[in-house]
Amino acid sequence: MVGVIGDPEASRFAYLSLYALQHRGQEACGIISIDDDKKFLSHKSFGLVGEIFSKDQLDALHGTQAIGHNRYATHGGRSVQNIQPFSFNTSIGPLAIAHNGNLTNSTRLRRELEAQGSIFQSTSDTEVFMHLLAKGSSDDLQERIVEAMSKVQGAYSLALMGLGVLFAIRDPYGFRPLVIGKRKNAYIVVSETCALDLIDAELVREVEPGEVVKITPQGIESSLIVGGKKERSAFCSFESIYFSRPDSKVYGQHVYGVRKKLGEELALEDNVDADVVIAVPDSGVPMAIGYAAKAQLPFEVGLVRNHYVGRTFIEPNQAIRDFGVKLKLNPIRDVLYDKRVLVVDDSIVRGTTSTKIVRMIRNAGAKEVHMRIASPPITHSCYFGVDTPQRENLLAAQYHIKEMCEFIGADSLAFLSTEGLKKVLEDQSEQKYCMGCFGQGYLEAVNDEIKEQPTDQADGPGLRYP
Ligand code: AMP
Repeated sequence: MVGVIGDPEASRFAYLSLYALQHRGQEACGIISIDDDKKFLSHKSFGLVGEIFSKDQLDALHGTQAIGHNRYATHGGRSVQNIQPFSFNTSIGPLAIAHNGNLTNSTRLRRELEAQGSIFQSTSDTEVFMHLLAKGSSDDLQERIVEAMSKVQGAYSLALMGLGVLFAIRDPYGFRPLVIGKRKNAYIVVSETCALDLIDAELVREVEPGEVVKITPQGIESSLIVGGKKERSAFCSFESIYFSRPDSKVYGQHVYGVRKKLGEELALEDNVDADVVIAVPDSGVPMAIGYAAKAQLPFEVGLVRNHYVGRTFIEPNQAIRDFGVKLKLNPIRDVLYDKRVLVVDDSIVRGTTSTKIVRMIRNAGAKEVHMRIASPPITHSCYFGVDTPQRENLLAAQYHIKEMCEFIGADSLAFLSTEGLKKVLEDQSEQKYCMGCFGQGYLEAVNDEIKEQPTDQADGPGLRYP
């Protein structure tokens, strides 16, 4: 997600930022700009940033303001109506919005709004926020935002654009990251700092949890924290583990450094004899480097990723489907042959990837395969914007550690403990992270439509086998 204000090339900076943020969503993307005649111009489509925007299309998106969005479907189905940003008219002028996160009370709010006559055009939870803004009683947009924020629950980082103004908004718990950057006279609001690096913008600061920042072409005009500062934040731990790019700084921490420490911590909790440490690329790489350094084992590149693989259409039977992972990853036989291989990945969700990787490493001649995961077992679904499947499809929600190890076919399996994760993420700061997906409970305050309860840790799947 990106918002730009104060540069005649606004849509090009939005485009470049979306390029840097492509990892956050590959289903669809779009940009809306405002031209000098105060008209909203828009281009949105299914596909990747590089495929969707031609030079002509970007030329047509003129104006000094733009917002953009990469879609990763967690809420609402795959339909053109759900591609963001959305634009809409209100009694106080036209607005456009881009949303990262997931509202947890949108079903109830939508029902209430519909009962009052609102007509929804999409199935996206973001549209609830739009209707709340449109129905607001004040003539002042900022006041309408505050009013809408008092009604919605859950995760939202927003870029909201009106004529001559850009708002950067973050939910009171700060689930999803959001930062402000500056490039010459322009201000840029983005999900991750890696987008600022690409366009040579400097990082000004993070948007605080609960903060509404008003930016005009003259600069940051005002900022307020809605409802006062919360006692705790709920930064998404999975952003640090998997979702964000390792060259970004999120929640004030360098992601690469955090992942390396997760690997180190995993090694401290572990004891297994291995000859070589390898990573599941790309996300497991910093973790494997950290693990190898702490365990004093050699780190090698054992699996090579093909970066040009898009979606594969070879689903129907298992034998053919196995080629899917081979398209993406190929083992380096010399590194693995006759070795006790310790392979580090960031997470196990359904267990599909790990199963294929273990098989691939064995087929390359490894004597033993020890799977190490640099985060705790994912036992619960995410309601705040990460696309985890229903609980029944989560391997760690179904099986104990022994069965999981057998399922993926490894000689041993170990996960990082939640204490280890907390030590790495929270130790140095006052900040608290959301670890709902690791069975640590969801925040009461955003629980409206969440039925699942935390597991008693004693009932958890366990962390290592054998
Ligand atoms: P699975 O094969 O379902 O167990 O998924 C685990 C693998 O997918 C790991 O290698 C992760 O790096 C990656 N992964 C984890 N979470 C996600 C997500 N939300 N979207 C896409 N990939 C993911």
